[in-house]
Amino acid sequence: MKSHEFNQLTSGLGHSPKMPVLFVGHGSPMIAIEENEFVSEFRRLGDAMEKPNAIVCVSAHWETKGSQVTAMEKPQTIHDFGGFPKELFAVQYPAPGSPELAQEVRQMVTKSEVGLDYNWGLDHGTWSIVKHMYPEADVPVIQLSIDHTKDAQYHFDLAKELAALRHKGVLIVGSGNIVHNLRTLDWYKINSEFAYDWAEETNEKTKKFILSGDLQSLVNYRKQGSAFEMSIPTPEHYIPLIYAMALKESNDDISIFNDKTVAGSLSMTSVRIG
Ligand code: ZN
Repeated sequence: MKSHEFNQLTSGLGHSPKMPVLFVGHGSPMIAIEENEFVSEFRRLGDAMEKPNAIVCVSAHWETKGSQVTAMEKPQTIHDFGGFPKELFAVQYPAPGSPELAQEVRQMVTKSEVGLDYNWGLDHGTWSIVKHMYPEADVPVIQLSIDHTKDAQYHFDLAKELAALRHKGVLIVGSGNIVHNLRTLDWYKINSEFAYDWAEETNEKTKKFILSGDLQSLVNYRKQGSAFEMSIPTPEHYIPLIYAMALKESNDDISIFNDKTVAGSLSMTSVRIG
């Protein structure tokens, strides 16, 4: 899509309805090709929402030094995992990119520098979920990376600068997992609902922070005690939640879905804002 076409889409029809913001728990990459209750919810959500003009996804699986946004016309489908069946490696999600939207994101963010990337593409944090929502791959998708050198407050502040995109028909998706400890994960129970006590505690407390709009506690997740330390041993799967919640406006409804923990320490808990 060319720049003027994107502008036509985003402003030409008078107004675009405000888009929701999502945080999605993606769990195992197998979610891309399995039929389960989580997939059904993503499909239902795609059907229920107004079709977006474009999607910006913050995936746990793209960490960089300095924030970057994918700016290529045709992002490749990245199979960034090992040890899974060949059907999963065969999945292609040929959604177009949007160099124009990437440029817009870069210009909107003034407190930090967002670089344009031409090497990444769509990793499984993005395509394993978005393919269920938009199976035709007809909505342009770009990714915004997670700068792994920065703290949660940086990500919160950066996300806030993207607020206007919601009013231009752009769907912003954070894709990660609130509870994500692979060291303690019981892979044999990946398809069964089961949570360690600390995983459940973290999931429940995080939901309370989300539903009460306690954004400060979400940003200060490192100060929430030992259950959070076990549940969030590394930040990359949690930070996409910060991006989503930073975009909450005061009149937005919040709903939680896929609120289940599997294999002991992987929560699928997902959030719709607005
Ligand atoms: Zn992941």
